[in-house]
This record gives sequence, C-alpha cells and structure tokens, in this order.
Amino acid sequence: MYVEITEDEFDQFMYQKGFVRDYDIRTYELIYFKFIKPKIFIRVYSTILSQEGRSRARGQDAIRVVLRIENKRNIYTLWSGPHVKRVENWRANLANRIDEALLQIHPLNCPKCGAFMVLRQGENGLFYGCSNYAKTKCRGTRE
Ligand SMILES: [Zn+2]
Repeated sequence: MYVEITEDEFDQFMYQKGFVRDYDIRTYELIYFKFIKPKIFIRVYSTILSQEGRSRARGQDAIRVVLRIENKRNIYTLWSGPHVKRVENWRANLANRIDEALLQIHPLNCPKCGAFMVLRQGENGLFYGCSNYAKTKCRGTRE
C-alpha cells in the first residue's frame, strides 16, 4: 500500500544511482537529475516536499521519471515513463523505471553522423535509430 518516503531515504537511493539533487520551485518538490550524454539527462520527481520534509499527499504520490534534452535555450521531453507508485517496493520499481529511461538512448552515437541514437519500434522489432532521422533522413542504426 501507499507509504511515506523520507527525504533521507530518497536521497540515499538516488545518490547510489549517481543522481544529484535539485528543487522545483513551482511544485515545492525535490527532484533529481543525472546526465547520460551531453545535454541529455534523466530527471526524477520525488513527491517529497523539501521544505516540509515529508511526502506529498495521496493522489499526488506518483514518482515520475522523464528523459529530457537541452536544445539551445529550450528543454524537450524525449521520453516519459508510466508513474511509479509510492508503495512498499518503490525502490525496485523506481530502479526499473530508471533502467527503462537509460535504455531509450544508446551509449554509442550514430556511426554515420555522430548524433545520439534513440530506441525505436520498427517492423521487425526494436532498434536504435539516428536521432537526426527526421531532420536529415540519416539512416544510421545500431544493435
Ligand atoms: Zn545519423
């Protein structure tokens, strides 16, 4: 069932995963981020209200994991996973969601143009395709 998570518990979990802490002044919520490539980062919205040192209320208790990219002065969402419920095994569920976010981007860049590679659904299943495809029609792929 629904559980409270303390700031310390969340910090400990996220630091182990290599994330650093940030804070969203709009939602008063503790957030964490980790760059996985230049300009590409995973951000986790904790549901912890930092100033109050407690979790948000039930109904606002979903932990969110998003993958974002900085492009010039804007930030775009590349991927956003299903919410992680704040239940007893939230650590395992959140770890899985972070792994899912990591899978969206290949560790290596495009063999043809050097852009980052994103996970795509093709006719023959999942593959990594060049993120420049829409712009330049680059057809670079990776396993
Ligand atoms: Zn390419």
